[in-house]
Amino acid sequence: MGVPISQMWTVASYIVGKRLKGEKRYPLVLMLEPLFRCNLACAGCGKVQYPPHILKKELSPEECFRAVEESGVPMVSIPGGEPLLHPQIVEIVNGLIARKKYIYLCTNALELKRRIHEFTPSKYLTFSVHLDGLRDHHDFSVCREGGWDMAVEGIREAVKRGFRVTPNSTFFDGTDPNMVREYFDVVMSLGVEGIVLSPGYSYDKAPDQQHFLGRAKSRRLFRAILSNRKKNWKFNMSPLFLEFLMGKRDYECTPWGSPAYNIFGWQKPCYLLQDGYAESFKELMETTKWEEYGTKSGNPKCANCMVSCGYEPTAVTHGFGSLSGFLAMAKAAIFSTYEDKGALNLLNDASFAAHNGSLVQIQPGEAMDAASQLEETRA
Ligand code: SF4
Ligand code: SF4
Repeated sequence: MGVPISQMWTVASYIVGKRLKGEKRYPLVLMLEPLFRCNLACAGCGKVQYPPHILKKELSPEECFRAVEESGVPMVSIPGGEPLLHPQIVEIVNGLIARKKYIYLCTNALELKRRIHEFTPSKYLTFSVHLDGLRDHHDFSVCREGGWDMAVEGIREAVKRGFRVTPNSTFFDGTDPNMVREYFDVVMSLGVEGIVLSPGYSYDKAPDQQHFLGRAKSRRLFRAILSNRKKNWKFNMSPLFLEFLMGKRDYECTPWGSPAYNIFGWQKPCYLLQDGYAESFKELMETTKWEEYGTKSGNPKCANCMVSCGYEPTAVTHGFGSLSGFLAMAKAAIFSTYEDKGALNLLNDASFAAHNGSLVQIQPGEAMDAASQLEETRA
């Protein structure tokens, strides 16, 4: 596994502590969005669609620390927007490190090489770099030619300086699993700690439905990608979540596992949906109608969802919160290659067509117009 022992130990003891106290619902990772501004306008991103007065707003470091303390999480993911555009991001990161929180600073890395000297390597800090496959696929996905090269330069510099780095990918329908496997080879050769991946999220309002994955398509794609693994591929994720993506196990969503806090407050019920906001973490936990979410609920917004922010907390809790889960994780660590002849055949399946559309480049002045048409689709 690509997750350091100290981090696994922290998460395991947190889960065991919660279970001993008899708590049924508890968060694992806070999705802390200190701003929605970004220097990209990726197709499928719902964050950069907000009007300018919202995009100008930011959470203060104190608001960030309060949210972390209220929720009591052991891990904090800082997406956005682009967190490196926040003028006090270094203060926020250092404050969270001082609180011994494991931080995933999610960045498109356009600014990473230029800003990296402002940060100090720590076991608590990981740069989670948005990379959606190899150069052409990534540049297509983020609507920016040259985006891949800048991100890779940032990764190289961060690895050279001793930082933890995990490339973070969202894969949509039309993704060629052979390209993804080649991408794994390339990113592992950059010296990253482990790979993070998730299927794109879809629901009825998303503008680009033809490129989002339904559940059956997701399982087929991830079976092709994640079976017959090479020994040097490492994943900074729960192996049980990867088995879920491959269709080897079924899980229900744990939306409270990754609560989201941003300039509007605590978002109900999860990082992807916006069914209102709560003023405090306690209010979020006590007033959200959790039974209305997840696949079993019949909620159409959840029908095709398999994203990491909803289902990885389920896998992590299963792995560290029960003997059967722990044994399943141990088995996944020992038999980590997942040999599967059927999956090898899938790699030659012509129905996995790579994107062949032309690259759409969005100039800064056009970004707001484009963003206003986008929906919330990235996890
Ligand atoms: S998905 Fe793209 S546009 Fe949206 S926040 Fe991430 S990098 Fe920025
Ligand atoms: S299934 Fe997906 S969209 Fe629905 S609550 Fe869970 S994470 Fe959110």
